[in-house]
This record gives sequence, C-alpha cells and structure tokens, in this order.
Amino acid sequence: MRIEIPKTTEWTPRRKSLQVRVRNTWIGSDYPVVVQSMTNTDTADVNRTVAQIIELYKAGSEIVRFTVQHKEMAKAVKPIRKMLEDLGYDIPLIGDFHYNGHQLLREVPECADALDKYRINPGNVGFGEKHDENFKTMIDVAKDYGKPVRIGVNWGSLDQTILTKLMDDNSRSKTPKSSDDIMVDAVVESAVQSVRKAVEYGLEPNQIIVSTKISEVPQMVKAYEQLAPRIEQPLHVGLTEAGLGSKGIAASAAALGLLLTQGIGDTIRVSLTPAPGASRSEEVIVAKQILQSLDIRQFSPLVSSCPGCGRTTSTVFQEMAQDLTGYLQDKMHEWKKEGYVGVEGMKVAVMGCVVNGPGESKMANLGISLPGSGENPSCLIYEDGKQVASVKANVASEEFKRHIENYVKTHYSKKMTEQAKSN
Ligand code: SF4
Repeated sequence: MRIEIPKTTEWTPRRKSLQVRVRNTWIGSDYPVVVQSMTNTDTADVNRTVAQIIELYKAGSEIVRFTVQHKEMAKAVKPIRKMLEDLGYDIPLIGDFHYNGHQLLREVPECADALDKYRINPGNVGFGEKHDENFKTMIDVAKDYGKPVRIGVNWGSLDQTILTKLMDDNSRSKTPKSSDDIMVDAVVESAVQSVRKAVEYGLEPNQIIVSTKISEVPQMVKAYEQLAPRIEQPLHVGLTEAGLGSKGIAASAAALGLLLTQGIGDTIRVSLTPAPGASRSEEVIVAKQILQSLDIRQFSPLVSSCPGCGRTTSTVFQEMAQDLTGYLQDKMHEWKKEGYVGVEGMKVAVMGCVVNGPGESKMANLGISLPGSGENPSCLIYEDGKQVASVKANVASEEFKRHIENYVKTHYSKKMTEQAKSN
C-alpha cells in the first residue's frame, strides 16, 4: 500500500476575481492558472515567429505574446495568425505595445483584429496630456474590436508623474518610507489608476488583466500583495527580468511560490534569459514545474531523485534520472492522446542508494532504488509502496520503464474524449 502523507500545509484559496476570456482561454479565479510566455524572434519574420509560437505552445504555453514594435511587425500579425490557422493551431496571441501602440493599432486595423489581447504599459504611452489621449486610443481600439487588454506596469518603465508625486508626498511625511517602498507604491498606484481610467473610457471591467512586474523578489511580492485587494481583475504574475539559468529559475520560483500560495496569480510567466542557442521553451517548462511543485496544476509525471553523494560514484543513477525525465515527458503526449486520465499526477522516484532509496520509492507511485557503492548490485523496483522486482543494473532502466507502462495501463482509466483525440 502506498503511504499517504497527511497534508499539513494548505495554501490560501485562490483570490476571487473577474474572469476574462482571451480567445479560447479563460483567465480568472474559477479557471486553472494559465501558463504563458513570449517569443524572442523578430515578429516581422513570420516563419520564425510562427515556428517559435508553436514550439512554446507545444511546451505548454497556453497563451503566447510577441512584441509589436513597428509597422512591419504590425503588418505581420495577420499572416502569423493565418499561418497558425493553416497549420491547425488555435493559439491566443497577445501583442506587446510600447510608445506607439495607439498608432499601430489604428493604422494597421488587421493587426488589432488578429490579436486576442493588447498589452498596454501605462508608463510607455506618452507624457502629460498625450498620456491619457494615447491610453484612451488603445482602450477605444480594444472596445471597437471587443478585445481584452493587460495593463502591465513595469518598474523599469514606471509612469514618472505618479512616482514624482509619491516621492514629493513622502518627503513631507513625518514617517517617510524607503525609496523602494515608494517605488512599489507607485507601481501599484499606476496599475490601479490605469484600471480605473480604462473603465471610465468604457472598457468592461472583465476585459482587463493586470500585472505589476518588478525584478526584485521582495518588492515584486509586496506589489502584488498590495494590488490584489484593490482591484477585481485577474492578475498576471511574473518576476520581470528574472535572469539567466539557475538565478532566474530560483528567483522566479521564490516569487511565484510566495504569491501563488497566498492565492494570488491567475496567469503566470517566467521571464528567463535563455543561454545563447538555448530553447526559449525552458521558461514554459519552469512555469509548469512551479505550478506542479505547488500542487496547483498537474502537467506530466515528475521524477523525484536524490542529489547523489559519495555513495553513488558512478553516473548510472544521474543518467537514469535524466533518461526517465525525458521518457516521461515524451510518453505523456502518447498517454494523453490515448486518454489516460490522471496520469499527469503520477509520481516517480529514482534514488541512488539504500539510505533513502527504498523509503522515497515507497512514497512515490513508482520508484527505483539503485545500489550505492559496496551494496548488493541489484536495483529494487517499488509500486505503491511495495517492492515488486529486483533487477540487474544493466537492464534496470528498461525494466523500470516496463513497470511504468504497465502501471499506467492498469491504474489510470482510459477516457477517449474528442479533445484527447485531437491533442
Ligand atoms: S539516497 Fe543514497 S546516494 Fe542518494 S543522496 Fe541519499 S545517501 Fe546519497
């Protein structure tokens, strides 16, 4: 029997928000937290942009955003949509606008029509009177085409009018706040005021999603904590400019974890800087793993593996953990297609030696405990807490996969839905 670990920690229930429809995807409290990402191709290069949108989508990005920086890019949006449709993909597409979105959306109406959501940065829509005028133009286009918008405030491009006012007020205060706190207040204030204005200009409250992105974890968390009770719109949550590799992953996981466990976050993006030549879809995989690690959504079976130590001097165990991770991801597509329900939540353990191997393996649905240095050279396979086989190292990987295949077929019901068939 598999040992059930009592859950001692319950996350705060999801914050209630309005629900916003973005093409075929709903965002808001009653819907799963949506994973999204952004391309880094030249949007005007239709072929490359379409290829990357499909790559991100296949990795699990449920919404894809791209920059619309100038007219050539705006004119490429309709062909991008058409090519995706011709290839059989119905993917929500978001246009990211800065400085000239009001012009591009009016001058290239087919772009406004083909996009499913417009990202508006209130810090980058112009200054003084132009600010409100340009912002209103973008809201008017959203109304005309019935599209939602994301009011995406970023502290790197904050509305200076709001910041200056708050700084001035703070300098006169008897208990002044730190400049970091004022910055957070300004980010939140910019978001709240922009939502209010968008509604005043006639956009429906449920046509708006909001984000307040900051690159420092404590300030970013504080901003969303302050923002969440002040508006009713769904929140797009992400740590902006998270960075490269492990730094970006760790910072994003910390920030998103702190917010998601408080019930804050309706759609997430992990903003990783890819290593040169590396796949853009890493950020999608990380976003999914954050949600899955928190038990908020399940995407594909996860492998728990020990870090290894002096008891595992060969690389067999690391190779097996890596091989099984890839194998499970590949098989997941197949199992999904075949309609196995719940298999995405299956837990698999690959352990390096007898110290924690049997114990950890028993807590997973399936586990394998390899022999450490000096141990009896057999690999123990467990299913639902019971040892079911002892195999030789040279066939351990294949044997374990055979057990996994069999486990899926016997433990998950097969429901061949139309959706499963088309995936
Ligand atoms: S399970 Fe064994 S090999 Fe893995 S870290 Fe623990 S002691 Fe080391």
